[in-house]
Amino acid sequence: MLVSMRQLLDEAAQGGYGVGAFNVNNMEQIQAIMEAARETRSPAIVQASRGARSYAQDLYLYHLMLAATELYPEIPLVLHLDHGNSVETCKSAIDLGFTSVMMDGSLMPDGKTPSSFEYNVGATRKVVEMAHARGVTVEGEIGVLGGIEDGHGAGLDGLSHVTDPEQAAEFVAQTGVDALAIAIGTSHGAYKFAKKPTGEVLKMDRLIEIHQRLPKTHLVMHGSSSVPKELQDIINQYGGKLRPTFGVPVEEIQLGIKNGVRKVNVDTDNRLAITGAIRKVFIETPEKFDPRDYLKPAREAMKKVVAERMTQFGQAGHAGDYQPIPIEEMAKRYAAGK
Ligand SMILES: [Zn+2]
Repeated sequence: MLVSMRQLLDEAAQGGYGVGAFNVNNMEQIQAIMEAARETRSPAIVQASRGARSYAQDLYLYHLMLAATELYPEIPLVLHLDHGNSVETCKSAIDLGFTSVMMDGSLMPDGKTPSSFEYNVGATRKVVEMAHARGVTVEGEIGVLGGIEDGHGAGLDGLSHVTDPEQAAEFVAQTGVDALAIAIGTSHGAYKFAKKPTGEVLKMDRLIEIHQRLPKTHLVMHGSSSVPKELQDIINQYGGKLRPTFGVPVEEIQLGIKNGVRKVNVDTDNRLAITGAIRKVFIETPEKFDPRDYLKPAREAMKKVVAERMTQFGQAGHAGDYQPIPIEEMAKRYAAGK
């Protein structure tokens, strides 16, 4: 059974930990996350972007996730839509069986143009009404994140639309979202910072301010890969050409988790791990041509990164803390105003 993200994040808030949300496009990535979750006994959030849905096709993705619930019954597991660009996209995900959706109304449906506050509130509120009626969780976004992810993003530097705490409070009151993605200087992609960012560069004080205004709203950090040098080095050692770059330091994420961050989005680190492992096989054993010879180490490399993040975010050991609530029951709770 796929469970509601609301339940996972409520539990995380109670336990004072964060939960990583890892992007997937194929079977190996789902397997890597599930193995890491089992090894660390972690609840898990698997997320798919619009790009992932078109790459893998909805039904492949959904049924792979159902397989994961059968193979790993002890893991509370959420299937979340990352960066839904419109009410229709969110609806199609809910119809398919996603248990959580992000309505990113910070951008217009083209996924590029920053929108108005009024547009964002209107679109997000529509999704909340539709989703909550079916027990599905909603993440909204206020402020505009930096960079571009899977073709989605304004391509700005992450600091041009930092979230305003006043506006965040207004947004949550008007929409009723369960979780809120905030822009505090993070960006999507590998090239986040030219040098290691400090808490000041990351506007951690802004995050703390938002949490103080909205103590009951689960905050979400996007673009939170740490882009470790070791992973960059493996790629470059085996013929890759990555420019030097810095991600979000794990200690800043942990500071966020102490201040209301419950969902932490990580994608780039897994991409780096997979690519490094594949390059290594290609360079060291160029005679090999069985896809399993490089997909197995790739899957293993991603599993290692995911397990490490699950431990760092504090979700490790919490898989068995609670009984999953069916989303039909969540729908009743929303209807009763709980
Ligand atoms: Zn994002």
